[in-house]
Amino acid sequence: MRIVHIAAEFAPIAKAGGLGEVIVGLCRELNRSGHSVDVIIPKYGFISLNKNTKQSQFKCLANTHTMWSTEIEGCRLHLLEADCFNRGEIYGYEDDLPRFIYFSRAALDYLQLQNKPIDALHLHDWHAALCAPLIKDIFKDLPVRKVILSLHNIEYQGKCAAADLDAVGMKGETYLVKEKLQDDNPKFPKTVNLLKGGIVYADAIVPVSPSYAKEILTPEHGFNLDRTLRGVQGKIFGILNGIDTTLWNPAQDRALIVNYTVASALKGKELNRGHFHLDQRKRPWVGAVTRLVPQKGPELLEAALEKTVEMGGSFLLLGSSPIPKIQDHFNRLKERYRAHPQVFLQCSYDEALAHLIYASLDLLIVPSRFEPCGLTQLIAMRYGTIPVVRATGGLKDTVFEGQNGFSFSDATIPSMSGALERACRVFRSDPEAFQGLMQRGMNGDLGWRKPAQEYVKLYGWTR
Ligand code: ADP
Repeated sequence: MRIVHIAAEFAPIAKAGGLGEVIVGLCRELNRSGHSVDVIIPKYGFISLNKNTKQSQFKCLANTHTMWSTEIEGCRLHLLEADCFNRGEIYGYEDDLPRFIYFSRAALDYLQLQNKPIDALHLHDWHAALCAPLIKDIFKDLPVRKVILSLHNIEYQGKCAAADLDAVGMKGETYLVKEKLQDDNPKFPKTVNLLKGGIVYADAIVPVSPSYAKEILTPEHGFNLDRTLRGVQGKIFGILNGIDTTLWNPAQDRALIVNYTVASALKGKELNRGHFHLDQRKRPWVGAVTRLVPQKGPELLEAALEKTVEMGGSFLLLGSSPIPKIQDHFNRLKERYRAHPQVFLQCSYDEALAHLIYASLDLLIVPSRFEPCGLTQLIAMRYGTIPVVRATGGLKDTVFEGQNGFSFSDATIPSMSGALERACRVFRSDPEAFQGLMQRGMNGDLGWRKPAQEYVKLYGWTR
């Protein structure tokens, strides 16, 4: 099959979180199983090109653009050059909406010029969702058999004015109806919702775990899209993400001080902990690697830190926040614990440090309010770190109390503290059972083989 992905991220060259990692993992596996894979992302200002990059010119509306194409991970990666993307970050700009609206249009203009049949056009999140209505409206002749939209997190929907669609040649006003792109919140009848456009017009919708696929149909987790989603239930297929088991491999990870395998995990963890200069006496090491946003339960993470210290454990947190109030709060927390012999806090985004933390912990705490899939619990298992998670979304589908981790049902301090207590009790009083959990996690099938097979089935599926 020929599969084309359109997305905002592709790791490691453009990664802001889980999205970029998921796309590269899936693409590599699709390629391995013999499919032809193209990926289109914007060329951000921080991406430098290698010598083997080919360029081609194409037109989008009144503009001429360069598309840079290179082979990476067995896929053809195409980078769209446009002034609005020539910046230091992927997201976080006031004009993010018009930027990604334009990106969606330009990606299709490029594919139109290539004019090669596409079996599956796979769109990711709101950044590319507009491609689905664009294909039905402007790019009717594009030889695409099937359009798939993956929902990595429906909290982010891309809401804009109808005029923003006019800018890429659509008649924005005509989309302001319930059955099309009008936002489902009745308070904003003049607002266009890009993600909704993808949901309405795509042939199949893929939330990134089976539990999340059910949760988003409810008002509690639907972020106002639940009604629309319930209306298209027949084309929703939850598929769990995998992790890149080459990138996340404690036996070969260059970011670690010492590599280890299942057999040497305990010793390996002990040696990697040296990096943090904390008290090295035997105690449970608990921690998290996370974006600090309300979804991830920042107040529960702080409570987990306090609870861990109270129980005599060590706590490591690597987290950064796009929300200044939360970032400031954790910076102050870092000051407060600066000299504490059991606490290490780092309020930044640091890829190498993340690897060392996964390798050093005994327990990873993930107290999310909702979690579409979650990668950190999977990465933790790969490193012999036992996840303690709130039972929601993909966390619920991957972590099972007493089998490979611990879980708690409510996003509250008592519920979370109870799970931490249970985990620490097993750590202290039953090392054999604890090691059994570690081994089961490390030996688990966490990669992309199975999820990619499910995607392939879906690409070939017809209604
Ligand atoms: P989300 O995509 O919602 O942030 P996921 O669990 O799906 O959450 O993916 C998070 C990814 O980002 C993981 O690979 C995790 O290691 C990484 N990550 C999150 N925060 C940081 C950080 N501060 N520094 C380095 N890596 C981080």
